[in-house]
Order: sequence, then structure tokens, then C-alpha cells
Amino acid sequence: MPEDCLFCRIVAGDVPATVVRAGERTLAFRDVNPQAPSHVLVIPKEHYDDLGALATADPQLLGEVFAETAAVAAEERLGDGYRTVVNTGRHGGQTVSHLHVHLLGGRPLTWPPG
Ligand code: 5GP
Ligand code: ZN
Repeated sequence: MPEDCLFCRIVAGDVPATVVRAGERTLAFRDVNPQAPSHVLVIPKEHYDDLGALATADPQLLGEVFAETAAVAAEERLGDGYRTVVNTGRHGGQTVSHLHVHLLGGRPLTWPPG
């Protein structure tokens, strides 16, 4: 586990987070700076830097991350719809280098985002 990775520290319980769902290999917790009424981050517990790293190393786990995202959306009652976002790298606006899916919902979301 990269010692300096914020999300690995959340998995380890060293940094508090509001967990909404935990799978064997995944964790879903509320974003500390929500951009929508429901804003949850879904991650693999194991560290992968980004989408490409996880897709290459363990595509089944990537599938589990998205299945968990859909399960959280159902639990959050986002039946009117929701958005999933995976930011990658500097141009993509990724600020935490541990792959995460943003789940956003609870209000109409404009496209393209600002
Ligand atoms: P990124 O910009 O990498 O796609 O998304 C990182 C997300 O992590 C941001 O939406 C940010 O608000 C969230 N975040 C940053 N620090 C923390 C934290 O300590 N706890 C939680 N729950 N979310 C965080
Ligand atoms: Zn990590």
C-alpha cells in the first residue's frame, strides 16, 4: 500500500470517511466536497493508480467497481438517473492517484460539465 495514498489510508481506516457500501474488494464512501446531493466515490481496496492500470491488471475488479457503483446508485434511490465520472491524469483533473469512480446524482446534471 502506498503510504502516502489518501484512499489507501481510508481503506486502512487511518483517515475517516463516511462509508456507504463495502464489498470484499471495493469500498464506496461519500466525497468530502460533494458536487451533487449524492456524490459517492467507489474504489478498489487494492491500490491502482488509474483506469489504465486497473483495466490492464484486473479487468474483473474494474467490473466489480462499476457493479458496486450501480448498487450504490440503487441504494441512493437515483432512479431518475446519475452520472459516473473517472478522471485520469493532469488533463483529466485527477487529484488522487488511486482509481475512483465518481457517482453523482440527486439533481439534473448539465452536459458538458463546466
Ligand atoms: P479526482 O479529482 O481525483 O477525480 O477526485 C478526487 C475526489 O476526492 C474529489 O472529488 C475530492 O473532493 C475527494 N476528496 C479529497 N480528499 C478527500 C477526503 O479526505 N475524503 C473524501 N471522502 N473525499 C476526498
Ligand atoms: Zn491507494
